[in-house]
Amino acid sequence: MTEGGDAVRPGPGPWRPATVREVWRATPSTVGLRLEVPGRVPHRPGQHYVVRLTAEDGYTASRSYSVASAPDDALLELLVERLPDGEVSSYLAEAVEVGDELEVRGPIGGWFVWDGPGRAVGIGGGTGVVPLVAMLRWARGHPELVPPGRLQLLAAARTAESLPYGAELAAYGARLVLSREASAAGRPAGRVQAEDLVRLVAPDTTYYVCGSAAFAERVSGLLVGLGVEASAVRVERFGPSG
Ligand SMILES: Cc1cc2nc3c(=O)[nH]c(=O)nc-3n(C[C@H](O)[C@H](O)[C@H](O)COP(=O)(O)OP(=O)(O)OC[C@H]3O[C@@H](n4cnc5c(N)ncnc54)[C@H](O)[C@@H]3O)c2cc1C
Repeated sequence: MTEGGDAVRPGPGPWRPATVREVWRATPSTVGLRLEVPGRVPHRPGQHYVVRLTAEDGYTASRSYSVASAPDDALLELLVERLPDGEVSSYLAEAVEVGDELEVRGPIGGWFVWDGPGRAVGIGGGTGVVPLVAMLRWARGHPELVPPGRLQLLAAARTAESLPYGAELAAYGARLVLSREASAAGRPAGRVQAEDLVRLVAPDTTYYVCGSAAFAERVSGLLVGLGVEASAVRVERFGPSG
């Protein structure tokens, strides 16, 4: 498996001010933010930004957030899951308002990116769907570059209500896998299984797996079990590694 991370290509550039233009509750535990970032360079689908918060006493905290927007969107869209004891996510998800200023640095990541032309499969768990949404928005906006079926998606969550961008993913044709309820398409409740993935496996495909460490490990293992070369699986982990 090949890991994501902070492989920077090209450089993430300087810290830039970002003005919050839109805030919305995407799911009960996540908040969407759309930011205006003057002077930013276009990202590639799958890349992320670092958001830095600075307290009045000068203390700073920064965390990575994947970009959900397509590269040609005028605003930079992030989606933040509020962790109850999370230093940065709880602030971004509970306190940030339209008009606030944040600092961001990016885009970052040269490995977990896809904008065609090769065949790709994106498999995201929970907020791990965020970089896949940037990929699907790119694919949807550029049918001349990305023929139908070139990007296939699977999105997993506990319930439909807790899946960020669930309606958009379903409209694109993503397979929804819900662990606690049947999906609208009739898939019974349950975690991702080999039978969910086997229909996505094909030659000359790169697999983009994103989510918690446990999700990434499980899905990567299933793919390899189905005969996928480990080198064809690119992994981005959101949660703590330990
Ligand atoms: C490349 C990359 C892209 C990311 N993209 C996103 C994104 O699009 N949306 C998003 O919401 N998050 C994303 N993350 C995770 C994000 O960077 C933070 O780790 C997360 O918001 C928690 O930060 P915090 O300061 O709130 O929590 P912290 O104060 O750092 O940690 C609080 C507690 O939560 C645990 N924890 C930390 N991170 C997670 C996590 N992700 N899941 C579960 N438990 C955790 C810690 O171990 C600790 O116990 C991404 C991470 C990486 C590396």
